[in-house]
Amino acid sequence: MIKLTCCLSVAGLLAFQAQAASPVTLTYVVNNQWNSGYCATVKVTNPNSEAVAWSGALTVRGTVSNLWNAQWTQSGSTLTLKGLDWNKTVAGKGSVESVGFCASSNAAPAPNPAPTPAPTPAPTPAPVPKPPAPAPVPKPPAPVPTPAPKPPAPAPAPTPKPPAPVPAPAPAPTPLPIPAPAPSTTPPNTADVKPETISWVWNNRIGNEALNFRNLIFDQIYATKGKLNYCVRWESNERVSLAQRNQISQLINTQINNWVSTWLANYDGWAYPRIDVKVVGWAVKDRSVLDWADDGSMKVYVGDLDEGGAPRCPDTCSRMKHRDGNYGACPGGEPSHFDMSLWGTQGFGGGAGGDWGQRVSSAYILSVASRPQAEAHIIEHEIGHGFNLPDFYEPEQFPPTGLPKSIMQAGASDRITPWDGWMLRRVWTELSRQQPGRFLP
Ligand SMILES: [Zn+2]
Repeated sequence: MIKLTCCLSVAGLLAFQAQAASPVTLTYVVNNQWNSGYCATVKVTNPNSEAVAWSGALTVRGTVSNLWNAQWTQSGSTLTLKGLDWNKTVAGKGSVESVGFCASSNAAPAPNPAPTPAPTPAPTPAPVPKPPAPAPVPKPPAPVPTPAPKPPAPAPAPTPKPPAPVPAPAPAPTPLPIPAPAPSTTPPNTADVKPETISWVWNNRIGNEALNFRNLIFDQIYATKGKLNYCVRWESNERVSLAQRNQISQLINTQINNWVSTWLANYDGWAYPRIDVKVVGWAVKDRSVLDWADDGSMKVYVGDLDEGGAPRCPDTCSRMKHRDGNYGACPGGEPSHFDMSLWGTQGFGGGAGGDWGQRVSSAYILSVASRPQAEAHIIEHEIGHGFNLPDFYEPEQFPPTGLPKSIMQAGASDRITPWDGWMLRRVWTELSRQQPGRFLP
């Protein structure tokens, strides 16, 4: 069984459509509220027949603590919003309803549900072209200074009067919390992580597949007792020097351990603090693109091509073809087997990944290999798929309370984030506890 999880688009490759500036209307509806806060859904309505990239402002009560699916800033009661790549366009006569927020509020709560009259529609600024590489979130537009109408007067709060306060004894100094000695399996409840989003993604996007698919990178590592072997498929005319070859070996090692060593070492029974990642072979069409002489440290396979004409290491050495671990027909036997491939294709846009490995452009590999200690975010993203972490493109793929910053959302992060690390941990905890026989050190 081959698991194919496609594809990461580099942010700069996403088509950008120039669109006519056009006013949109922003409103919000309070979904739930309590004495000290409320959560609301925002609706962006486009009254025109042409699609536009939207932005605008709302007048809100209190201080926004959490907002999902838009760029935002708050200045006083003015909340300024702008769409993200995937929801920045509102269709002609259409609306966008994927944005929401929660706010703390010292004021008494408003009636529920209370559609808030929209402020004067703010003109949508001309769209700003996105920079080519994933970069820090662009600065949102300056807050719209026009005062907007106030929301309707709040209804009297139904809360009964609290009893008169009892005089308390002088408080003792509170000791600082002592950090836990080993990572707990409970994610921290912070804006970066938000445990409910991890549970939602496990329950709705990962669980079924991960419990049934037995060639995840977790499985591969346990099968070899802490090692991963790689084949480099070089589908490219770009020449590779000996120094670059060695940098690429280091690159793969670093990217795997950016996940495993950083997030699984010393966590919930995981057995291998650092993975020994080794390139055991290169596959090429033409030996002359490799500027090194055979030195016995790895194989070079010439002219073994897949159905699409791309070079590959032999099937006899492939874990995907020999899940039983029998590599008797592989030249070099078990030590020359490979668990995954790093597949560099000349001119390949974005990336693709799965249990078979990671595919990116050969130019990207050469560029990130020259700084092998850095995070190569496209490769990291594709490795994430090998652990069954999903992509986030469509609104229904996102947790209802919003997705914290994640490398698995194309263009959102150039590194593995705490959310990604805790998501990886959750998958490990679920699999190892629900299927204890699956992972034997
Ligand atoms: Zn992807």
